[in-house]
Amino acid sequence: MPNKGKLTVICGPMFSGKSRELIRLVHIAEIAGQHTKTFKPRIDDRYSHSDVFSHDGIRGTAHPVDTAREMLSMLAFAPRLPDVVAIDEAQFFDRGITDACLWLIDRGVTVVVAGLDRNFRGEPFGSMPELLAVADEVSKLKAVCMQCKDPRVTATLPQRLIDGRPATYDSAEVMVGGAEYYEARCADCHEIPGKPDFGSVVQGLFADQANGSGVPADASDMAGQVTGPDSGGSA
Ligand code: ADP
Ligand code: MG
Ligand code: ZN
Repeated sequence: MPNKGKLTVICGPMFSGKSRELIRLVHIAEIAGQHTKTFKPRIDDRYSHSDVFSHDGIRGTAHPVDTAREMLSMLAFAPRLPDVVAIDEAQFFDRGITDACLWLIDRGVTVVVAGLDRNFRGEPFGSMPELLAVADEVSKLKAVCMQCKDPRVTATLPQRLIDGRPATYDSAEVMVGGAEYYEARCADCHEIPGKPDFGSVVQGLFADQANGSGVPADASDMAGQVTGPDSGGSA
């Protein structure tokens, strides 16, 4: 029997089935006689203060906690650690969540984490990039894009809608809500009015074309790390 636990991260946009999969894995573990405990951040009070729900009504019992530290102290002061710890809506946790998961794995606990890998702007969300980096297994789920409804199930992004219109880039990162504010969309249909144009960001990186130095004029502290297309870097 291996001594260390394993971290599985389930990610994807809203409605992709993350909570459903988390609840399924906990249920299967319980059938196998494992002792499980499920947590969620208290910020997510959409459905209930004490349960995890999927959008299709499947339900699991959960302990709401304010911080990763609160979750760990609940676990560490119990007579024994559970075999399986499940965490939903992990993107809302503080940065301590990754260390908490690593601490549990080190003690042989199987950890299953579900969360949004990207915010409504399409950028990495909270500690999810770190959790994905240290995961043993990753499930990146997709949903049906509610704009083009491509049957290949292509939605990877949460679209925030305010009064039915796409929220602008400067809208707050966290706005808790369900179908009244969010829908799943594919990259082609995802809209973020005011989002900085990546074209201009990349142009800045290659400003060396103009000054001939091999690095952007305003990034001399990155010399040695950044090479322009004509500066001899290998392709
Ligand atoms: P998540 O936790 O990723 O938000 P849930 O597990 O709560 O997802 O819900 C998944 C369920 O949502 C699906 O089984 C399906 O019944 C429903 N659903 C609603 N909208 C969509 C969509 N656009 N694509 C896929 N499933 C959807
Ligand atoms: Mg969910
Ligand atoms: Zn689409």
